[in-house]
Amino acid sequence: MIVRALSLDFFRNYLHLEAAFDPGVNVICGDNAQGKTNLLEAIAYLSTASSHRARYDRELIQFGVDHAFVKGEISARGRDFTLEARLGRGVRRQLFSNGVRLKSAGELSGVLNTVLFCPEDLYLIREGAAVRRRFLDGCICQLRPKYAEALAEYRRLYEHKTRILRDWEEHPSLLDTLDEFNLRMAQTGAMLIHYRAHFVKRLREVTPPIHRDFSGGREKLDLQYETVSTVTEAEGSVRQILAQLLAHQESHRRAELEARQCLSGPHKDDLTVELDGVPAKQFASQGQTRTAALSLKLASRELFFQETGEWPVLLLDDVLSELDRRRQEFVLQRITGGQVFITCCEELGLERLGAGRAFRIQGGRLAE
Ligand code: ATP
Ligand code: MG
Repeated sequence: MIVRALSLDFFRNYLHLEAAFDPGVNVICGDNAQGKTNLLEAIAYLSTASSHRARYDRELIQFGVDHAFVKGEISARGRDFTLEARLGRGVRRQLFSNGVRLKSAGELSGVLNTVLFCPEDLYLIREGAAVRRRFLDGCICQLRPKYAEALAEYRRLYEHKTRILRDWEEHPSLLDTLDEFNLRMAQTGAMLIHYRAHFVKRLREVTPPIHRDFSGGREKLDLQYETVSTVTEAEGSVRQILAQLLAHQESHRRAELEARQCLSGPHKDDLTVELDGVPAKQFASQGQTRTAALSLKLASRELFFQETGEWPVLLLDDVLSELDRRRQEFVLQRITGGQVFITCCEELGLERLGAGRAFRIQGGRLAE
């Protein structure tokens, strides 16, 4: 998959941008706060209709303006696509592929896949389960439109059930709808668990060899998918998972009402990482957590390739500067094939990266 060209209007600090890119390596240089991350964010937005650092789409719209446009010319599966996102304050965002309005972000999943790697990802291992869930969700959403829909539905149900549990004492009639919400959450939750378990199964095949190479053959990495305790076989049938989720809900009903929070469901799932048999979250050194985080990201890139037959566009935001020379070399060797965007503050020698093109960004403008 290749992003051949990008145009932006009022996206973050870009008033207007028109850029054509190299099908190989694109190096984006510039001082701090000039718009390098914003550029990668715009590309990633075309693949997921979400941003890794904005909670709301309105944050992407330029201050003082009421709308923003992102348009990309994409080549994938031997065809050309024009993807567009139109954002506006106070209105629903609109997505288009070749001029046809898409019903949901899930429909983007077949067109452009991206793997973004940013400095925050270096903490993928150390932080709470939420970051690892976001990693899993981000990958599966891009590969499975049905998953993206189920996840959005689960989030809606979760918010609604949270409100019921929060307010039921003041408004007891809210409890009339609790069973209905429980059932729908268990149905949607069972789908999420099913997809996550199958994705982690593949990830478990691909990640350990990458990590072994990366650590010079010294370390063994293991991954484990952790979900609701009553689910005995996460890779099993959705129907069986559903029955087990309902049983868990039932046994936590009282506790949920007392705690006034959702305690039961896959919104607490985790992907646990072990290095040489001990949990990386608590015991891995700084270097080990970086290596493991990078291995996971590179593994997801390979899974995208296995799944679609094409390399996803790799977006490396400022990560090389955070790595030592040996790890830099490892990453650069691993990412041949496919289109890559690399941001950096100082000029990164293009010769180290193979052929490609360098761009300089200054104040939301391109100065090649
Ligand atoms: P660094 O090297 O520090 O990571 P960067 O080049 O990646 O810098 P960006 O994160 O792309 O910088 O941000 C560039 C500028 O965009 C920031 O100064 C920020 O204030 C500005 N900016 C962010 N959101 C908006 C917005 N909605 N409207 C206008 N400007 C914005
Ligand atoms: Mg940046």
